[in-house]
Amino acid sequence: MKQTAIVWFRNDLRLHDHEPLVRAIADGYQILPVFIWEDRWQHQSPNGFLRMGFHRRRFLSESVHDLKRGLTKLNSNLMYVSGSPVRVLTDLISQYRVSALYFYRSPLHEEQADEQALIDSLGSTLSICRFWGQSLIHPNDLPVPPDQLPDQYTAFRELVLGKVPIRQMEEMPSTIPTIDTPYWGFIPESRTAARTRLTGGMTAACHRVDDWVWRGDYLKSYKETRNGLTGMDYSSKFSPWMALGCLSARQIEFTISRYEKERGENDSTRWMRYELLWRDFFFFMAMKHQTRLFRLTGLKGRPVKPDLNPELLTSWVTGNTGIPLIDSAMRELAATGYMSNRMRQVTASFLVHDLKQDWRAGAEWFEAQLIDYDACSNYGNWQYIAGVGNDPRPDRVFNVMKQAREYDGKGEFVFKWIPEARHLEGSMIHDPASWKLIPNYPPPVVVIAE
Ligand SMILES: Cc1cc2nc3c(=O)[nH]c(=O)nc-3n(C[C@H](O)[C@H](O)[C@H](O)COP(=O)(O)OP(=O)(O)OC[C@H]3O[C@@H](n4cnc5c(N)ncnc54)[C@H](O)[C@@H]3O)c2cc1C
Repeated sequence: MKQTAIVWFRNDLRLHDHEPLVRAIADGYQILPVFIWEDRWQHQSPNGFLRMGFHRRRFLSESVHDLKRGLTKLNSNLMYVSGSPVRVLTDLISQYRVSALYFYRSPLHEEQADEQALIDSLGSTLSICRFWGQSLIHPNDLPVPPDQLPDQYTAFRELVLGKVPIRQMEEMPSTIPTIDTPYWGFIPESRTAARTRLTGGMTAACHRVDDWVWRGDYLKSYKETRNGLTGMDYSSKFSPWMALGCLSARQIEFTISRYEKERGENDSTRWMRYELLWRDFFFFMAMKHQTRLFRLTGLKGRPVKPDLNPELLTSWVTGNTGIPLIDSAMRELAATGYMSNRMRQVTASFLVHDLKQDWRAGAEWFEAQLIDYDACSNYGNWQYIAGVGNDPRPDRVFNVMKQAREYDGKGEFVFKWIPEARHLEGSMIHDPASWKLIPNYPPPVVVIAE
């Protein structure tokens, strides 16, 4: 009889381009696919937010269901267990006499601690095979080791763009030899009344790529539309699926290359590639700086002294600062689990530079809410805006009024999320003198510069 290997699915909830799965099959094992709903996701963050709010739970649960359906089509299944990864895997390894464990590695210290604990306790009795797969560029292909990478994005991009080959994607297996067991565990449904059309899982992810890149041809003009605030198509919305690995970064990269061959290269296709490199950049910065990613003083170790005002923080979190552009974005986040990149920058800058609060409280709220939450990109971007991370400029402040006029000149975005303001004429919505005309709307919590 064949020996058994566990393939542990973490942030890689897909069946295409999945190296641990392909390698475990090629190495001749029968497979036990496992997903662990981790205890720590139910914990609270230091500022008292749930680490995984209901939008994220919903999107993750849909993605796990979709993975199970995909595995079933390949004559396999998915074992679903909740608990701490080390305990769950140790139990399964003993219960099913497992000889090998295959999984993708994480750049983050908490997850790495789990990996190390598994190696320490089980490494002498079973074979542990780890792979890198979250980033577009494989860490071993970098021209220098991650801890010697430059701390500025432009220098990083110059070092790698067009110089580092992207590895080929893995084929999806046509069938998966799987252990015979009657017990696979029950994946809970997670239903929410989210006002978003994004559904978790690799199936929906592939449809989104088809719809956005090919059918809608939105990639063609991405550079011009990417700063939009309303609608589905101003940007790709690939991030939630990439965060859970329902889409691999290589899949996007190869789609862009194919698009360029078939429909032509332009500034927009190049820009999309730059964005994928931003994602890689923050991934490698997390690898390089480890726990500094979560420290108040950031990667730079820059001393900062935020005010601690729970009322101001609550006004920001609940979308009640009295500043329509900010409140609209925060209400969108709470209602959908998504916010545009432009508004992430503006709301983050507002919390840190106008309200003078601790950037980590904002990052934790985003962590709870964003369906595309990714620790490297989230904490990396927050540090960047707070001036303690990778931004060469120390204080990047977004002027809220200027941003409002530039990106929501007619008030379309604000009217969507603060419908009680609709009686105001378009551009009046960004005139502070008219805000008191909005029924039941709070006065501004700070005076903001014009
Ligand atoms: C304060 C703050 C917090 C953020 N938190 C996250 C997060 O938790 N998870 C996350 O994926 N992104 C995060 N971002 C980056 C960015 O806002 C999102 O990746 C983007 O809005 C996702 O929408 P999209 O897929 O339509 O992006 P598109 O504009 O279509 O970009 C395509 C892809 O490029 C990558 N990308 C684009 N911009 C960035 C960026 N600035 N940093 C890293 N990757 C980028 C994403 O993978 C994205 O899916 C954050 C940005 C800020 C300012």
